[in-house]
Amino acid sequence: MKIGILGGGQLARMLALAGYPLGLDFVVLEPAPDACAAPLAGHIQAAYDDPAALEQLAELVDRVTYEFESVPASAVEQLGESLPVYPPANALATARDRHHEKTLFNELGIETAPFAEVHDLAGLKQGVAQLGLPAILKTRTLGYDGKGQQLIHPGDELEAAWQAVGQVPCILEGLVNFDREVSIIAVRSVSGEMAFYPLAENVHRDGILRLSTCLHEDSHQPLAEDYARRMLEHLGYVGVLAIEFFQVGEHLLANEMAPRVHNSGHWTIEGAHTSQFENHLRAVLDLPLGSTQPLGHAAMVNLIGDLPDTKALLGLENVHLHLYGKAPRPDRKIGHVTVREASVDELQARLSNIDNVLQ
Ligand code: ATP
Ligand code: MG
Ligand code: MG
Repeated sequence: MKIGILGGGQLARMLALAGYPLGLDFVVLEPAPDACAAPLAGHIQAAYDDPAALEQLAELVDRVTYEFESVPASAVEQLGESLPVYPPANALATARDRHHEKTLFNELGIETAPFAEVHDLAGLKQGVAQLGLPAILKTRTLGYDGKGQQLIHPGDELEAAWQAVGQVPCILEGLVNFDREVSIIAVRSVSGEMAFYPLAENVHRDGILRLSTCLHEDSHQPLAEDYARRMLEHLGYVGVLAIEFFQVGEHLLANEMAPRVHNSGHWTIEGAHTSQFENHLRAVLDLPLGSTQPLGHAAMVNLIGDLPDTKALLGLENVHLHLYGKAPRPDRKIGHVTVREASVDELQARLSNIDNVLQ
């Protein structure tokens, strides 16, 4: 079986790494010449919406998936005419646009922060009158790692905020004073089998995910699974779906979803019986899903910007290093480490060892 992946970054690379033991082969479609998945897969170097490249990909592979949600809808449409593309196009269309995804969350009875659509400066003023400040102005599409967002405090100049996000269609969101940020990695196969990983608690720094810790028997797990199940079933979803939440007391407010494998699920590579990458592949191939049970107490630390002291990291027991083969650059995710320990205390101690190396 050959799988086509739109996008050739680290998520595609880790999908390929998980797929080889299952006897799978991969071809990535990715415009960048130095795509970090390319050494592990066939590489068609072209724009995602290049009809000839898409035709070539469709001839080479048996089914197609993707590693990011900003894939042009036209690409998914063209590929979908000749072979299965998962997750389905409706999931992509919803998840790539913050307004669509938040509207759908609410329609399905899933709470979110209050939000308003913003098309222009007048709309921003209206939104602020409706929601109050502080609030966050976010571009509807293409944002990641906190890019395309502007926090607006009381008294701030609204015109400046509107300029800062590039005067494109946006949503304004009330700022949530959350207790924690958590995410659920859910998976549904072609024939409708579903599985859910334990919630991860996520800590961000400068808008970029820095630490994800697997939570054991958290009291919010049933609600998160219920919300994820509603979304999977509504979309007739196939593959891994990640939903990020703000936890406020007993409530979970959905922040966003990603129709793909997700950074907050990287701990599953060594921290769960079956990784999110393997389960995504099993789901799109309609194979039985693997167990999502955690192995010990696991966490993941992102390596951001500079190349770390890899010798020191590998010198730590129970630390697993994943470098993506990407050139270091400020704010760029170039790898991660997974830690797995027998107890919460040992996990915390190991995480502070890692912090000392990364400082
Ligand atoms: P990602 O890299 O996860 O795709 P993104 O650029 O799509 O990020 P968000 O997830 O919307 O952006 O926001 C990034 C982070 O900013 C959140 O994880 C959270 O820490 C903070 N944040 C975003 N929106 C809100 C909000 N309404 N209230 C409080 N904090 C928020
Ligand atoms: Mg996002
Ligand atoms: Mg996010």
